[in-house]
Amino acid sequence: MTRAGRVELHTHLEGSVTPARLILLAEKYGQPGLPAACLTKDGNAYHFEGFHGFLELFKHVTSLLRTPEDFHVAARDLGGQLAADGVDYAEVTLSYGVLHLRGIDPAPVQRALAEAAALVEEADGVVLRWIPDAVRQWGVDKAWRAWEAAATAGRDLGVVGFGLGGDETAGPAADFADLFAEVKAEGYGVTIHAGEIPGMGAAAVDSIRQAVEDCGADRIGHGLAAAHDPLILATLAARGVFVEMCPGSNLATGGISAWGDHPLRTFLTAGIPCCLNTDDRALFDLDLEREYQQAGDLLALTATEHDSMQKAARKAAFDVSR
Ligand SMILES: [Zn+2]
Repeated sequence: MTRAGRVELHTHLEGSVTPARLILLAEKYGQPGLPAACLTKDGNAYHFEGFHGFLELFKHVTSLLRTPEDFHVAARDLGGQLAADGVDYAEVTLSYGVLHLRGIDPAPVQRALAEAAALVEEADGVVLRWIPDAVRQWGVDKAWRAWEAAATAGRDLGVVGFGLGGDETAGPAADFADLFAEVKAEGYGVTIHAGEIPGMGAAAVDSIRQAVEDCGADRIGHGLAAAHDPLILATLAARGVFVEMCPGSNLATGGISAWGDHPLRTFLTAGIPCCLNTDDRALFDLDLEREYQQAGDLLALTATEHDSMQKAARKAAFDVSR
């Protein structure tokens, strides 16, 4: 049974676009071939191979989110999905880097999202807050541009933090240290995708270390690679860095080879605050309820642990006004 009063901290708006919505958007923009490139034959689910195949899929989906109205509809859809998962507070990431790449002004988009959030709160009982993010592989200058737009939109439009996503193999987090120093100085939360991508070896641990030590990340997205490095586990625990775990996503992109291989328990044992998240719920065909169920079935997560993870997640939320 779905447990009410949950928090989700790592969920991408673009990744919540359902196959049905993708088909409608493709019709709207006269792109009839696009659903076939993204979806399984029956049109009910997405398909892709590996992490880089996923980034390609993400590109296709985001190519159909063009107007403030498109984002508004996507946010309303996501509100319904979160309510079905028992979530009453979510921090939702939106790539301002992608908006800029496509020549879309983030300001009217963020206004549309704030309006959608008010409707979602009223209709679904879910509070939505926003984490604009930059794309790592597009470099520091573009990340600054994304941050400036995020800061301009500001708290009045529900922005509570700033993040870094994209291809972790393409550049060190340390390059973004000055940017995140400013984000923190302005009182916004910092979350960085790190230790996610398979096959990076020691560089993946270093990626986490840089996110924490050079960029001052309050939260790490994924953090998988820390599981085999006692030193970085100790660093995360000592600093109280919160890890946003996304096992279903990691399984889909090859970070783990079976759901039950997820190192959640290693993090819990190390005393690192964490919770489960869907990451890109529609693209991976996931929901939060199933993620917690799997953790119970395959990793022996107890109801008490579920509740304490959720308590930690609420504490790690960036909206300090709540
Ligand atoms: Zn993510």
